[in-house]
Amino acid sequence: MGEFFEWRETPAADFAVVGDPIAQSWSPQIHSAAYRAAGLDYRYVSIRVPGGEFSLASRHLKGLGYRGLNVTAPLKMEAGGNTLDLFRDKVISTDEAGFLAALNHHGVVPRGRVLVLGAGGTARVLLPALTKAGYRVSVWSRRRHELDIPRLDTVSEPNSGGFDVIVNATSASLSGEELPVKWEGEGLAMELSYSLELTPFMKAAIDAGWRAVDGREMLVQQAALSFEWWLGVVPDIKAMRRALPV
Ligand code: NDP
Repeated sequence: MGEFFEWRETPAADFAVVGDPIAQSWSPQIHSAAYRAAGLDYRYVSIRVPGGEFSLASRHLKGLGYRGLNVTAPLKMEAGGNTLDLFRDKVISTDEAGFLAALNHHGVVPRGRVLVLGAGGTARVLLPALTKAGYRVSVWSRRRHELDIPRLDTVSEPNSGGFDVIVNATSASLSGEELPVKWEGEGLAMELSYSLELTPFMKAAIDAGWRAVDGREMLVQQAALSFEWWLGVVPDIKAMRRALPV
């Protein structure tokens, strides 16, 4: 687990990832590697911001001179995206492009059938991006959510049969929780969270004969897009991948 600060006590720096929990984030390592590769002298830190405190915290960090923030669970809906430029007062999401690039990296091509688990901040941006990219998309969530997304099918049970890809866009793995997936058929199980160990979702997928990957390639891809948007420079993505813990 990495070093992090509470938002009211954080020192000045240039960029940060904010969320709760936050100690598990690998963003500081990969952004720092990209600064080193580009010869830039910026500091990127992890800051814990509990749900409901995003507006207060981001105003405070702007006052301390922070230039940009990456936003993770559970703050994405409050923030309106995953990447903020505090100088320009703008917010974007790099998750959908990062996710599609990661799918491509893992050899998945559009037109397949994808089941997305979860309807939180990340799922809501991935779902329309997947349908637009040509995938046939279904969603499962434990609670009912109003999702106004064209061509989206909602399923009441998370059964993997008939799907080519199943994406865990819940935050269940952050707390080690199991999901009630009924594993059938075969395909790619893509966990969006990442850690040094297999998550319960990945373990269950592998036991059922599915190929399983975690969210580290998506992390690198969305981080590279954030870096480029903030600084106007394309980062060394290989240096960012090399900075991932193994
Ligand atoms: P949110 O907090 O916005 O949403 C989380 C969702 O997970 C909610 O819909 C919640 O359901 C659901 N959930 C949590 N626990 C369970 C459970 N036990 N069973 C069923 N559903 C559950 O989080 P985000 O959308 O921002 O993030 C989701 C995940 O994606 C996180 O693990 C995050 O780390 C990962 N992520 C990884 C990225 C990467 O670059 N690799 C980028 C973005 C996200 P409910 O609504 O019922 O509470």
